[in-house]
Amino acid sequence: MGSGDLPAEPAKRLAVVACMDARLDPRRVLGLETGDAHVIRNAGGLAREALRSLVLSQQLLGTREVVILHHTDCGMLKFQNEDIYERLGDAAREIDFLPFSDLDQSVRDDVEFLKASPLIPDDVSIRGFVYDVKTGAVREVA
Ligand code: ZN
Repeated sequence: MGSGDLPAEPAKRLAVVACMDARLDPRRVLGLETGDAHVIRNAGGLAREALRSLVLSQQLLGTREVVILHHTDCGMLKFQNEDIYERLGDAAREIDFLPFSDLDQSVRDDVEFLKASPLIPDDVSIRGFVYDVKTGAVREVA
């Protein structure tokens, strides 16, 4: 059965930005049901890459809370841009793959980035968490 009877506006007025890692299930980790939240995913769960979707979520679809969800053992901790450029050739150089070397700092950076953005209203709650893929625990870091 479809979910078309639910409103498009998320019931919990929440937008989640999470890493695309297959071991991380943001809905389960955060206890969300269908219709509760926007879940925006990309490599690393980076707010910079999610900004387009986040702005629409906040400004057109009424979300008033953002959760950043990164995780331990993330692939984004394991390479530098130069490694990918060497492997894929010059065509890849136009992309900044946005790797990071400090997991907690990557969450704090994303929270700060969104708080500083003129496109995200000042009254929006922005929090950042790290999910431990080994234990399943979630830790708030920002
Ligand atoms: Zn990841």
